[in-house]
Amino acid sequence: MVGGGVIGLTSAFRLARVGWRVTIFDPSPGAGATRAAAGMLASTAEVAPGEEENYRLQLGALGAWRKLSHELYEVTGEEVELHESGTLLVAFDQSDRRLVDQFEGIAKSYGAEARRVLREHSGEMFEGVSAGIREGLLLAGDAWVDPDQVVALLTRANEALQVNVLRQFVLSASTQGNQVSVTTAEGEFRGDAGVLATGAQPLPRGLAERVANVVRPVRGMTVRVQGLDRSSQPMVRAYVRGRSFYMVSRPGGYCVLGASSDEKQELLVEVGELQRLLRDALDIVPSLETASLVETRQGLRPASKDLAPFFEVVDERWAWSSGHYRHGVTLAPLAANQALSFVLHLS
Ligand SMILES: Cc1cc2nc3c(=O)[nH]c(=O)nc-3n(C[C@H](O)[C@H](O)[C@H](O)COP(=O)(O)OP(=O)(O)OC[C@H]3O[C@@H](n4cnc5c(N)ncnc54)[C@H](O)[C@@H]3O)c2cc1C
Repeated sequence: MVGGGVIGLTSAFRLARVGWRVTIFDPSPGAGATRAAAGMLASTAEVAPGEEENYRLQLGALGAWRKLSHELYEVTGEEVELHESGTLLVAFDQSDRRLVDQFEGIAKSYGAEARRVLREHSGEMFEGVSAGIREGLLLAGDAWVDPDQVVALLTRANEALQVNVLRQFVLSASTQGNQVSVTTAEGEFRGDAGVLATGAQPLPRGLAERVANVVRPVRGMTVRVQGLDRSSQPMVRAYVRGRSFYMVSRPGGYCVLGASSDEKQELLVEVGELQRLLRDALDIVPSLETASLVETRQGLRPASKDLAPFFEVVDERWAWSSGHYRHGVTLAPLAANQALSFVLHLS
């Protein structure tokens, strides 16, 4: 397994669980896009024009997460904390209300569940939300996980299944007869099959030239603050002056605010980017005014040409699992199933 983000860790777990001896190569497992992710499993809130197929794929993700959670429990005695909170989608101004209307039209055309709710009837759902916002759209099927908990749990489970983690960067990869090999600064390693799960980063030499798909990095940032606990209510999503904003509130008052999106790959925080995100946050959830800033996290989303994930087999014994873009956490258990079926079908 080249890459130990959520895709690599989950795939390694699935393979190890059925008896494969797995080695993960990654200089810093869990520290890529996975660390920046809010952890939403939001098939409905992520509905977008032209992405119906992706919506259908994500729809199966919650069930796949429940199953993965159960498997992790069997190995570690701990489950993934799945919060089936739903999402409340709101609008900041008149033109944002039109965006919510458009969203509702698309969501309903896909058959997604979306129901209008009014503050006067469902006041608790609007807790912390600007008093000027009187209505919203409830997307009841959405859920969230904490990616830090997921990474920690997968790491423990993989340790228990004796997955070997080598903190080394893979420079090149190849196929030699019925074997695959990778080269790092420390030497050459061989195995029966290999999966590339390098997120938005370039592939190792030797395979980079052979693949059909392309991924480009789309930088995103989440801001983490402490001080508002609305974890018993739906996640908040909003259109603000045409931009998208979300907040995932965890028990104890830790909130993840997101997310910026730029066609850039330098992992730095631009002042304007941070200012826009915080302004949007305060316009939608004014109660955040007194929350304290914990940190910002940045990551590169792996975007394919059509924004859909792919699992590409190269040279029969290598596969490339990427293109998960905004949905890698959501889709991780499904990507792991693809990795499993890939190795099970090797001759
Ligand atoms: C701000 C932000 C918010 C997001 N929110 C959500 C969300 O709420 N829900 C959701 O479903 N998705 C979300 N995503 C998307 C999700 O984070 C990604 O799709 C997912 O993390 C991709 O996982 P990955 O394992 O492919 O990549 P990564 O997590 O980037 O992991 C790739 C790993 O590969 C390693 N690597 C790379 N090259 C090599 C090499 N040559 N040798 C060895 N190791 C290598 C890296 O060190 C890294 O650890 C968000 C993304 C961002 C940036």
